[in-house]
Amino acid sequence: MKIAILPGDGIGPEIVAEAVKVLNVLDLPFETESALVGGAAYEAYGHPLPEATLKLAKDADAVLFGAVGDWKYDTLDRPLRPEQAILGLRKNLGLFANFRPAICYEQLTHASSLKPELVAGLDILIIRELTGDIYFGQPRGRRIATDGHFPGSEEAFDTMRYSRPEIERIAHVAFQAARKRSKRVTSVDKANVLETFQFWKDVVTEVGRQYPDVALDHMYVDNAAMQLVKAPKKFDVVVTGNMFGDILSDAAAMLTGSIGMLPSASLNEKNQGLYEPSHGSAPDIAGKGVANPLATILSAAMMLRFSLNQPDAAARIEKAVDQVLSQGLRTPDIYSEGTIRVGTVEMGDAVVKALA
Ligand code: NAD
Repeated sequence: MKIAILPGDGIGPEIVAEAVKVLNVLDLPFETESALVGGAAYEAYGHPLPEATLKLAKDADAVLFGAVGDWKYDTLDRPLRPEQAILGLRKNLGLFANFRPAICYEQLTHASSLKPELVAGLDILIIRELTGDIYFGQPRGRRIATDGHFPGSEEAFDTMRYSRPEIERIAHVAFQAARKRSKRVTSVDKANVLETFQFWKDVVTEVGRQYPDVALDHMYVDNAAMQLVKAPKKFDVVVTGNMFGDILSDAAAMLTGSIGMLPSASLNEKNQGLYEPSHGSAPDIAGKGVANPLATILSAAMMLRFSLNQPDAAARIEKAVDQVLSQGLRTPDIYSEGTIRVGTVEMGDAVVKALA
């Protein structure tokens, strides 16, 4: 098994180092190789995703990714900005399925903006289609309108589109994931207004007939947003398109309290995947030794489960994280009175110790 390690920028190298430390004590047969990505790669090679980094990622069974970006690169031409590296990796590796679990640990319920009883024990999985929809649909651009409400004025436009195979493959991913959980899928759409999402609903319904053991329901995206903050525990697996998934997964993330706790996985058809925390490079705290490494450590656990076929090792990591939280250890983002404040390295060390 080969893991490509791409730490990136900001807090990326600090949190990835802790995840690698955790992986190394598991005594599993894998090799790792690191490469620069994002702003760090731009500084060294003039490009955020150099050929050698892309090749390393393509040849690996899995990629463990930190985060990229810094405000100092915001004036660069768009193709040279650090964030382009993620888009390039998604595209080149065909990573169409994004998994974002939103789990609220009992020990952290008070950190949520919702009442503890609404989020205690929350465990939902948002599956977002990642390579289609209005984010990638062509044509797009700016032009002078020839019709509409203001003919002759400047306008901008994008194209929302989904093909049958794109919807079928993400639907299969969702139903199969639900089989390993409580066997419920909610497909989120806007079928009442958008042709693309009426088609989405029809195709998901058809695929669902192949999974009679999984209950499928459909929800409009506006209602889904409302239900997420009203009664989030109603959901199990949520499957949706790229744009709705982008928005709903961030809302779901905040239900759990801190973005520093949330892992993610993006998979292709061969189960090769890119694993990264849901947060960014946090330049405001980079180098201070205070970043929460748990989202990255939990991403490494997802990597073991989904791409490296090591479910037992994944479960061991998740249990160790639960244990350090029960011991009261907290990085500043999840700290509250009565708990023990620790830094990035101490948190990683504690997970290693819990594993032992
Ligand atoms: P961010 O997620 O980096 O930070 C938002 C806030 O959360 C900050 O206050 C930060 O200190 C805090 N935070 C984030 N991760 C944390 C952790 N592990 N522990 C403790 N606190 C944490 O989002 P932002 O500030 O909007 O973006 C910063 C940079 O990251 C930008 O350049 C952006 O483009 C980039 N970004 C990258 C990715 C990615 O690499 N996948 C994702 C989102 C944003």
